[in-house]
Amino acid sequence: MINLVLFGPPGAGKGTQSEKLIQKYGFVHISTGDLFRWHTKNDTALGKRVKEIMNSGALVPDEITIAMLKEELDKNPQAKGFLFDGFPRTVPQAEALDTFMKDNGSAIHHIVALEVTEEEVRTRIAKRRSTDNRVDDEEEKLNKRITEYFSKTIHVLPYYKNHGRLHTVHGIGDIDEINKNICAILDR
Ligand code: ADP
Repeated sequence: MINLVLFGPPGAGKGTQSEKLIQKYGFVHISTGDLFRWHTKNDTALGKRVKEIMNSGALVPDEITIAMLKEELDKNPQAKGFLFDGFPRTVPQAEALDTFMKDNGSAIHHIVALEVTEEEVRTRIAKRRSTDNRVDDEEEKLNKRITEYFSKTIHVLPYYKNHGRLHTVHGIGDIDEINKNICAILDR
């Protein structure tokens, strides 16, 4: 089985594509955004620590994010394959993930980066505002998330490129067509 990182800016379609890929391949889905939202909703100690940071659109510090990720990995020792969605978002996170996988005798096999323009991201998230009610979708918070993406997260791409695991997929257009292009990479 394979381990996959789905990569892209906010609103790139990572959640939508994750659902389809999980159905087809049976991945264990690890979305750090969903995990943080679960903690804030349930007002856990971790939720209390990250709520304000998340709601501002900033990245949660690596040490907190990496510890939470490790805990999720440890909860799923039988997993045949993981789909990481929204992680890694910084180079130290990417390095930590490689170390964890290696320690388990495994590896990250593919990184699929969904390529979407900033303009498209803004249009999609503006549309989502009327249905999803995410505090961090508000204009000012979204600006912060986009800044975080282009100042920190984007540097993860050369990290994986250097390791020869990076695939880019055009992320605008028909959802099923995009999905087909991702599956073609995984089935190779
Ligand atoms: P997006 O739509 O921006 O991809 P996510 O649902 O993946 O949103 O994440 C929401 C928020 O959760 C981020 O803006 C950030 O505050 C926090 N977060 C999620 N994943 C990470 C991560 N890997 N590192 C740091 N912060 C994260």
